[in-house]
Amino acid sequence: MMFDLTILGSNSATPAYGRNQTSQILSIENRLYLIDCGEGTQLQLIRYGIKPSRIKHIFISHLHGDHYLGLVGLLSSMHLGGRKDELSIYGPPALKEIIDIHLLYSDTRLRYPVHFIPTVDDEERVILQNEHITVRSFPLNHRIPCTGFRFDEPPPLAKINRDVCDELNIPSHLFSEIKKGGDYIDENGTIHQHTDLTLPPKAPRSYAYCSDTLNSGVYFSSIENVSLLYHEATFLHGMLVRAQETYHTTALEAGQIALKVGAKKLLIGHFSARYRELSPLLEECRSIFPNSHLATEGRMYHIEN
Ligand SMILES: [Zn+2]
Ligand SMILES: [Zn+2]
Repeated sequence: MMFDLTILGSNSATPAYGRNQTSQILSIENRLYLIDCGEGTQLQLIRYGIKPSRIKHIFISHLHGDHYLGLVGLLSSMHLGGRKDELSIYGPPALKEIIDIHLLYSDTRLRYPVHFIPTVDDEERVILQNEHITVRSFPLNHRIPCTGFRFDEPPPLAKINRDVCDELNIPSHLFSEIKKGGDYIDENGTIHQHTDLTLPPKAPRSYAYCSDTLNSGVYFSSIENVSLLYHEATFLHGMLVRAQETYHTTALEAGQIALKVGAKKLLIGHFSARYRELSPLLEECRSIFPNSHLATEGRMYHIEN
């Protein structure tokens, strides 16, 4: 199954050095999920050839401008582009009011239905489930209510062990049932357990997005053992006091968190506009967690175990 992440914006607060405010596209089986929508997201979608009409779900972590100020513009362009398909938006309750007031004063009635699902910031919650993905929101620890999002693919089915099945002359039309956990009874009435007829499936893949947060344990249980962890790393560790004052994380802490929760790979982003060069942030993070990478705009990251 296709499970890829494309970074559209990697900066915090303001655009700087060619970097844009936070936004990402998760592509799962050809469906697009937009995560945060900072100013400039539309231009980034155009730059990287991603059609907004393919976006079915938008997740907004919190109401600091660098995470949502591109949203109303994007909704408006979808309207002007003749969109008819429903769009689901997940975000803090006040986001609906913000969208509605823009539409009210521009006398706009969107040509497509918007389904708004408010997030909560006091507990983990499943907010979307379909055949390809389960999405949970979970509380982060920021200056205003803020949630992260975790995307888990369903456990893949077991694989047929052809050698064993061929030896028992099991007809191939029974394979799909066996993969789902059905046992096989042969002509002598002997039961063959499905676990003896299959090979263990691959571990399911997952992606967790931690937008803006203080380094604190409140959300660690929600991101345990994730295949790819995106974590903000706004500052170098020398700015720890500033990071704590503003409810942000340092690059060193992001590495510590990835290690602690058993993440397989770490992507850091939400870089402060004070840094032209990002390599010191990466080095700091890698000193703790070697499989760390910078969130680089326009790059696609395959999510794998
Ligand atoms: Zn931010
Ligand atoms: Zn913020």
